[in-house]
Amino acid sequence: MRRLLGDPAACADLLREHGSPVNVHDFGPLRGNAAEVVEAGRRQGVAVRVFVARKANKTLGLVDETRRLGHGIDVGSERELLQVLDRGVPPADIVLTAAVKPGRLLRTAMARGVPVVLDNLDEALAAQSISSQLPHPSSVALRLAPEAGRGLAPTRFGEGMRTWLDFLDAHPFEGAGQRLDGVHFHLHGYEPGDRTAALGQAIELVDQVRLRGHEPSFIDMGGGMPMSYIDDAGAWETFWDRHEAAVLGDGEALTWRGDGLGLRREEGRDGARLAGARDLYPYHQEPVRGAWLEQVLAGEVAPGSTAARALRDRDLALHCEPGRSMLDGCGLTLSRVAFRKHTSDGIPIVGLEMNRTQCRSTSADFLVDPILVRTGAHGHGRGTGDHWNAPRGAFLVGAYCIEAELILRRRIVFPQGVAVGDCIALPNTAGYLMHILESASHQIPLAANVVRSQDGFARDDIDGL
Ligand SMILES: *Cc1c(COP(=O)(O)O)cnc(C)c1O
Repeated sequence: MRRLLGDPAACADLLREHGSPVNVHDFGPLRGNAAEVVEAGRRQGVAVRVFVARKANKTLGLVDETRRLGHGIDVGSERELLQVLDRGVPPADIVLTAAVKPGRLLRTAMARGVPVVLDNLDEALAAQSISSQLPHPSSVALRLAPEAGRGLAPTRFGEGMRTWLDFLDAHPFEGAGQRLDGVHFHLHGYEPGDRTAALGQAIELVDQVRLRGHEPSFIDMGGGMPMSYIDDAGAWETFWDRHEAAVLGDGEALTWRGDGLGLRREEGRDGARLAGARDLYPYHQEPVRGAWLEQVLAGEVAPGSTAARALRDRDLALHCEPGRSMLDGCGLTLSRVAFRKHTSDGIPIVGLEMNRTQCRSTSADFLVDPILVRTGAHGHGRGTGDHWNAPRGAFLVGAYCIEAELILRRRIVFPQGVAVGDCIALPNTAGYLMHILESASHQIPLAANVVRSQDGFARDDIDGL
């Protein structure tokens, strides 16, 4: 990312050739990201397999690199599944976890020998009826909804332990052509202790199904492995100090019309206080990836037994489906400055040739600072008389004609000003931010995706499908 942004001509070329915005990928960092996790397991004697969650980035470049490294892929829909199979990924290296699995998707996965994570009883019954018609046994895992309480939040994913055990007793797998290969869960949040607690419950379910004659060989702990976008804890804390003070009315707002990013001011008996919750990814956090997994595995699932030990004792492999944390460092979004102006009440805004869905997560904002690359040397607005050449703060707006359609909710400072034709780079967007909510409203085409290899940048095949 640094090398590309240090080369304004290369940024300008990419925008000229592929339009604005353009998603630029380099999957080089995937190897180290995944290795960190596998190594963390190895240090504690646990065999870890990584299945990269495809929903975090749709490119086929990601699929190819994952396959090349020998890791697996987690798919969430029929198209994701078929594209991965077409790309030559062995079925055993795929896992289907889709939150909703229409009959056709289930049939395709099972017929092609792709392991399926069953979420609920309706799905489990549908899967039994499909597999009983297949000539080979199908591999399934049960998605456990860990019991809430003791810190664990309620979840809509999976079924409780009792429900699964009753199901297995009433609908034996013998004759249904199924093999119960594992237990799966997927939690919201990043607390290592929660993951350890859920692992403990999954291990309990494994013990119970083994008593019933099944031979599961893995526990799949789903995704939600943390990463950190911002190295500097101080910068992160300063941001929150200033923002929270501003929400309480102390100091200039950092955000568009005082948007609290999930927080708001509430009048209490003893004066104003903050209410609500930060509706944001923790852009700075620790530990992440390998160190985080080590902490999860070192946690106790029973007095005197760590999660690692419980897995080892039962000869269970640990599968995981990280998305975001595997894509750390794998891509950025480039966009072109279209105009500079002021709102009718005098707020400076900079218009980009992109829309908000092209760098957007499901939370309130993207909290990594954009980087200005001065490619607009020949555009207007670089003359000495242009007052946008002076340092200033402005909000970035996009192409959808909605009043609150901002690219970022924060005011961005341009220390050397900003000109038409300049490039604004949004760093480290490959995990979710490019694709998870992108839309083609106004008939504006989706952003192009390019992948860097030794031969330079090439368009990713996903754009042609
Ligand atoms: C979303 C999801 C993932 C990936 O989560 P990350 O936060 O990107 O690691 C993995 N597995 C399942 C079942 C998911 O729903």
